[in-house]
Amino acid sequence: MAKYDVIVIGAGPSGYAAAIRAAQLGMNTACVDKSLGKDGRPTLGGTCLNWGCIPSKALLDASHKYVEAKENFVDFGIDVGELSMDVPRMIAQKDAVVDRLTGGIAGLFQGNGVTQLSGRGKLLAGRRVEFTPHEGAAEILEADHVVLAPGSVPVEIPPTPLTDDVIVDSTGALEFESVPSRLGVIGAGVIGLELGSVWGRLGSDVVILEALEDFLPVADPRIARDALREFGKQGLDIRLGTRVIGAEVTDAGVAVAYQDKDGGKSLTVDKLIVAVGRVPYTEGLLAPDSGVNLDERGFLYVDDLCATDAPEVYAIGDVVRGPMLAHKGMEEGVMVVERIAGHKPLVNYDCVPSVIYTHPEIAWVGKTEQELKADGDAYRVGSFAFAATGRALAGNEGVGLVKLLADAETDRILGVHILGPQASELIAQAVIAMEFGASAEDLGLTMFAHPTLSEAVHEAALGISGNAIHMVNRRKT
Ligand code: FAD
Ligand code: AMP
Repeated sequence: MAKYDVIVIGAGPSGYAAAIRAAQLGMNTACVDKSLGKDGRPTLGGTCLNWGCIPSKALLDASHKYVEAKENFVDFGIDVGELSMDVPRMIAQKDAVVDRLTGGIAGLFQGNGVTQLSGRGKLLAGRRVEFTPHEGAAEILEADHVVLAPGSVPVEIPPTPLTDDVIVDSTGALEFESVPSRLGVIGAGVIGLELGSVWGRLGSDVVILEALEDFLPVADPRIARDALREFGKQGLDIRLGTRVIGAEVTDAGVAVAYQDKDGGKSLTVDKLIVAVGRVPYTEGLLAPDSGVNLDERGFLYVDDLCATDAPEVYAIGDVVRGPMLAHKGMEEGVMVVERIAGHKPLVNYDCVPSVIYTHPEIAWVGKTEQELKADGDAYRVGSFAFAATGRALAGNEGVGLVKLLADAETDRILGVHILGPQASELIAQAVIAMEFGASAEDLGLTMFAHPTLSEAVHEAALGISGNAIHMVNRRKT
């Protein structure tokens, strides 16, 4: 029976980070993953690299460049003439990026000495793992430590069963061969907004149906309000308080039945994307006596250090509590194996950045204003609009704002919320500041290069004490 120091099940960002780090720390490590790529061959990187973060960003970047050329280049005096979009070429470019990155993980496994096992893994009692390769017989492996990283899968809802290529989940929405004229999206969450944006930019009439009355309740209310207005201007028809109750595929398209405050209605679209969230994936993962328990929502139950109820068995990433984000899972993977090696790292769950890669982008870290209000915390707000930053205007990107929340007494930064250009990059400044326990004054006393988008972060921090330079301040103090 083959024996390893560490066996990781799942090679998504959580699992591959755990496996690579474990091998770097000198542990004899194997990583089991069952995913097959579009070519039918084993692929590494899980949802993130194959069907999630990376391919969605490739399509978002492609469609953004198209809109820039079509609508915005003219403001800079650039005339591109007649423009056309070759969708199969765009998809091929996306696939090439995926191939390059998944191949990169294979190279990292090889270079760092991780044994790649392609097939299914099942945790048995006593830290044994049943490994069933794609072809051939199952074998039993043994490990001193097991890390479970099986990830998540899209939620399917009974009113809209998926079809081959008309009613699709996020994976199918990354593969359309042409631009649908009429596109329905169920769910105005992160994935629905990103995929709706991709196809809307390329010419689809997009209707997003969202059951909740509030738009993006997880984001800061001011940011959500301004974002909703911007997306409306871009032509995304976001209908809140609208619950989808059925769908029928007909010759004329998909007839989507929904209910809003006025009663039952219907809408016909050519394609329907179901983007109503994701659930932890644990099918076939655990033998009945594995010792690992699930929580009431189907996640693997773990403590703050990602330990399950079974000794020396850990679980990380989308399959455990916390936000379903690649970077959160990667940090958990590294923490778990470094602790196995005797180090003492922690994951700071108060500093997990969230990003929505629409245009403008939305990014935040820490508490929202409504959370601070609900907690009864005294806070101050500093905000700064990109319309007042030279660099944003130079690039025709003067939409959105940075909003910074700081403790009214200690001035410690409690949350930073950004709607605007490069928000996904700018938020890192806030994460670093918060990780070091910075006050708004600390950021205000820091020098930022001019002209940059980052100056909006600086000015928002200065705004906490009313000292922003590029704003009118009549206090004379
Ligand atoms: P996964 O990436 O899901 O990987 C799990 C792997 O384990 C899979 O390969 C699976 O096949 C394998 N597996 C499962 N069970 C077994 C088993 N029993 N045996 C063997 N193998 C098994 N997150 C971000 O942070 N930023 C983004 O921009 C972003 N964009 C996204 C866009 C889309 C369209 C989607 C769908 C998701 C996006 N996410 C994004 C979320 C991100 O993809 C997930 O948070 C991340 O992939 C979770 O990583 P993981 O390692 O926990 O699981
Ligand atoms: P997220 O979990 O962030 O990906 O968002 C998924 C969104 O889908 C949530 O905001 C849900 O309210 C929404 N949703 C779930 N079921 C339905 C439904 N039947 N009709 C419309 N929206 C839905």
